[in-house]
Amino acid sequence: MFWNKSKGGKKGAKKKVAARSSTAKKSAGKPADGQAPVSSEQSLDLLADFLRIFGEGAFDLEEISAPEIRERCDTWARHLILGIEPPDRPAEADDWEGGAKAPRDLPGVRRFVDETRSEEHRYVGKSFGNMFEAIWAFIGGLRHTLVFDEQTDAQITHRIRRLEKAAQGNSTERLKQEALETVSLVRESMANRGDNQQKLIASLGNRLEALRAELTVVREQAACDDLTGLFNRGSFDEHLERLVDLHNLFDRPVALFMIDIDHFKWVNDTHGHSVGDTVIKEVASSLAKSFLRKEDFVARFGGEEFAVVLQEGRLETLKSLAERALQRLRDLEFEVGGEQLRVTASLGMALVHPGETAARWLERADAALYDAKQAGRDRVVIHPSDHENASEG
Ligand code: GH3
Ligand code: MG
Ligand code: MG
Repeated sequence: MFWNKSKGGKKGAKKKVAARSSTAKKSAGKPADGQAPVSSEQSLDLLADFLRIFGEGAFDLEEISAPEIRERCDTWARHLILGIEPPDRPAEADDWEGGAKAPRDLPGVRRFVDETRSEEHRYVGKSFGNMFEAIWAFIGGLRHTLVFDEQTDAQITHRIRRLEKAAQGNSTERLKQEALETVSLVRESMANRGDNQQKLIASLGNRLEALRAELTVVREQAACDDLTGLFNRGSFDEHLERLVDLHNLFDRPVALFMIDIDHFKWVNDTHGHSVGDTVIKEVASSLAKSFLRKEDFVARFGGEEFAVVLQEGRLETLKSLAERALQRLRDLEFEVGGEQLRVTASLGMALVHPGETAARWLERADAALYDAKQAGRDRVVIHPSDHENASEG
C-alpha cells in the first residue's frame, strides 16, 4: 500500500528527484500573463498548503485512518517547506541532508496524493456498492414480505418503483429522501394493518363470545319435551342455527340424524294411544343412551320423529353410530296384553355443507330419511351428496 515506507526503491526515488529539478528550473522565472513570476519557494509553499487542506478533509479508509492520512500530509508539507526527511524515503538512502537546499521529492508527493485519492475512490465506490446492495435487499424484502390490501399495495408498489429509480441514480440525497418516505409509508401501512387485524380479531372474539353465551342459554333455557324429557323442537331449531354458524366460522363438521319410528300409526291403531306414548318414551330413552357425548344433541322433532346432532364428520364413525342406535331400538321389547311388541326406525343422515342454511341441511337429512323409508324402512341412509364430501375413516 502507498503508506508502506518500503515502497518505491532508491532508483525510482532518485530518478524522480532529477525530474523534479528539471521541472522546477523550467518554470522558474517564467512570468504568467501580466503577473509577477512565481518563485519555486512560493510553489513549494502552495503545494504544502494544498497538502494540508487535503489532510484536513481526510476520512477513515479501509486500511488507514483519517488521523494517519493527516499526519502523512503534514510530514509531506514539512518536507516541502523545511526540507525535512520525506515520509517515503527509502531506508537505504542514508545520505539525506535536510534543510532549505535539500532536494524536494515532488514525485513522492505526487505518488502519495495519487495513491491516497485512488484508495479513497476505491473505498467510496465499495461503500456505495454496499449501500446499494443493502437498498436492493431492502426493496426485495419489501416485495416478498409485505401483503397488503390492494390500495395500500398499489401505493407501496409505486413507492418502491421510485426508490428503485433513486437507487439507480447518483443522488444520495434523493435516495435518502425516497428511502425515508418508503419506510414511513410502510410503517403507517403496518400500523393500519395491525389495527385492522386487531379489529377483526376483536369482532371475531365478540362473535364467539356471543355464540358461546347463546349456546349456554339455549341449553339452560331450552324447553324440554314433556313426554320424553328430550330437547323439544324449539331448542332443536336454535341449536341447528348455532351449529351452522360454528361450522361456517371454524369449518367444524356436524352431522344431523333424522329418525322416525316405522309404522307407528299401526302401533297406535292396534294397541292404543297410551301404548304409543310408552313406545315413544322408550325410544327417546334408548336414543339418549346411544348418544352420550357432551356435545351430542338429541331432540324430539315431533310426533314419533327424533333428531340427533353430532359434532362428527367421519362417515364410517357416523354410520356405525347410526347402526348401533337402530340396533338398540330393535332390541327394545314391550309387553302388551301378554304379547311382545317390537319396533324399528329409519334414519336419514346429512352432514352440514359450507354456506348451507339450517333449513336446507334439515331438508337433506329429511330427504335421506324419506329414502330410507322408501327403501323398506329399518335402515340408515346417508344423503347422496355426503358420500362424495365426507371424510372417510
Ligand atoms: P312410517 O313408517 O312411514 O313413518 O309410518 P308411520 O305410521 O310411522 O307414519 P305416520 O307419520 O303416518 O304416523 C305417525 C303417527 O304418530 C301419527 C300420529 O297420530 C302419531 N303420533 C304423533 N304424536 C304422537 C304422540 O305424542 N303420541 C302417540 N301415541 N302418537 C303420536
Ligand atoms: Mg313413522
Ligand atoms: Mg313420522
